[in-house]
Amino acid sequence: MNLNIVEYPDKKLKEKSLKVELFNEELHTLLDGMYNVMINSNGIGLAAIQVAHAKRVLILSIPDEEGEQNREDLIEMINPLITKKSGESVYQEGCLSVPSFYEDIVRYESISVNYQDRDGNTQKIEADGLLSIAIQHEMDHLEGILFIDRLSYSRRKKFEKEYKRMQKEKKSSKI
Ligand SMILES: [Zn+2]
Repeated sequence: MNLNIVEYPDKKLKEKSLKVELFNEELHTLLDGMYNVMINSNGIGLAAIQVAHAKRVLILSIPDEEGEQNREDLIEMINPLITKKSGESVYQEGCLSVPSFYEDIVRYESISVNYQDRDGNTQKIEADGLLSIAIQHEMDHLEGILFIDRLSYSRRKKFEKEYKRMQKEKKSSKI
């Protein structure tokens, strides 16, 4: 499966993802392809819409204490739903679809999530710290929301300016 990361300002990222009904080979191929894209791009999380598939699918690979991403720590979430949330935490987030930009975003500190695994079995997880933040970031993607959509008006303006400049530089350096 040939998957490429969709980058802002592509309108595809605003699309609301659809519930997964079939837990078949096609879904497994998508999940495996997403894993390769995420690891090759040094990401810790990826939603299917970021590779142009509008499905309620996301994956997470939080590094261990040594900073290693282990395949056995991979979490695949299909049709996730937050059932409990509490507290508040701020973390400097980035996104594979908004390269080279990082900003502080406020999220819930702890969450409980119900979801399905790749075989359609119901799973439940309680998360805090980076895992909690990453889940909330990826779940936003399923609604067509990017972390930059959560910035204040003035910070968003600053972002648009910086991002345009960076894209211009990227283009000119490719010549
Ligand atoms: Zn993202």
